[in-house]
Amino acid sequence: QSKLAGRNRYCCFTARMNDEAEARLRLESELRRAVGTEQLFLHFQPLVHVESGRVAGIEALLRWNNPELGSVPPDRFIPQAETCGLIVPIGRDVLRQACQTALPWLQGGHPDLLLCVNVSPRQFQDGAFLDDVRTILRETGFPAGNLELEITEGLLLKERGDIDGLLQGLHDMGVHLAIDDFGTGYSSLSYLERYPFHTLKIDRSFMIGMLERHERKVLVDTIVAMATGLGLKVIAEGVETAEQLARLRAIGCDLAQGYLFSRPVPAEQIFALLDNRFGLDERGPGPSVHLH
Ligand code: C2E
Ligand code: MG
Ligand code: MG
Ligand code: MG
Repeated sequence: QSKLAGRNRYCCFTARMNDEAEARLRLESELRRAVGTEQLFLHFQPLVHVESGRVAGIEALLRWNNPELGSVPPDRFIPQAETCGLIVPIGRDVLRQACQTALPWLQGGHPDLLLCVNVSPRQFQDGAFLDDVRTILRETGFPAGNLELEITEGLLLKERGDIDGLLQGLHDMGVHLAIDDFGTGYSSLSYLERYPFHTLKIDRSFMIGMLERHERKVLVDTIVAMATGLGLKVIAEGVETAEQLARLRAIGCDLAQGYLFSRPVPAEQIFALLDNRFGLDERGPGPSVHLH
């Protein structure tokens, strides 16, 4: 009897594995066909200077709308695109599209605006990455000093060899480098000393319970103090309430990003946000707070 049960479990297990494998394959083939089409497009989310309430940067976030699968979240399709290598051409399109879209924002009275673009470790492993960035900047006319590339910590752990040279090359071009989702994954504090980062983004998981839980409070305080002490700009992701913002202001966090200010929105809506002064609204959390 136990043998039978074991066998049933085995059948269910393989059936489930096949389902998953099938779903993955399907996703991959749909994604392959989506590259270069309007199925893949960008949304943009403002990064707000905590002191002044001004928009200091804009992060480009990839979206995928498939006629069959509907809207597929990046957390689902990006890992898949990384595994099958599609992230390389997709990432190139993202960078080009982001630069083209953001250039008029700089030219329209916001010359200091930073454009933040996520880069997958897999793109770094592709030997042509540095040349791709250089080419895209030249062809779009986007200034290198207004571009910030966001890199997750995983990259630094995996790829040791020529990562130093690559990051230095980008740094020498004038491109800003940010460490994304800091505090999750495999943080090694020595990375902060070793690589030429400008910016540290605290993962949004740290915002949850940040005001209630003593331990979390200490961690956020300490990360901000450490980053500031190292001369890095600090950004808090996932800021959803005015209370979180007030706390970040009190501890000297430079920038904040989150639903409190704006969700990621289509490019057309960004121009209208650029002149906002986002502030602390006593009434508490809301979709966005405008103090003009
Ligand atoms: P990320 O780079 O850490 O981006 C921030 C994520 O947090 C975004 O999720 C954003 O929509 C979400 N977010 C922002 N504010 C809030 C908030 O107040 N509350 C909550 N709950 N969430 C907030 P999204 O757009 O789903 O992207 C997820 C991840 O997918 C990104 O995390 C990034 O790692 C990856 N990704 C997105 N676009 C690209 C891309 O073009 N290239 C690569 N390589 N990765 C990308
Ligand atoms: Mg990011
Ligand atoms: Mg992040
Ligand atoms: Mg994150």
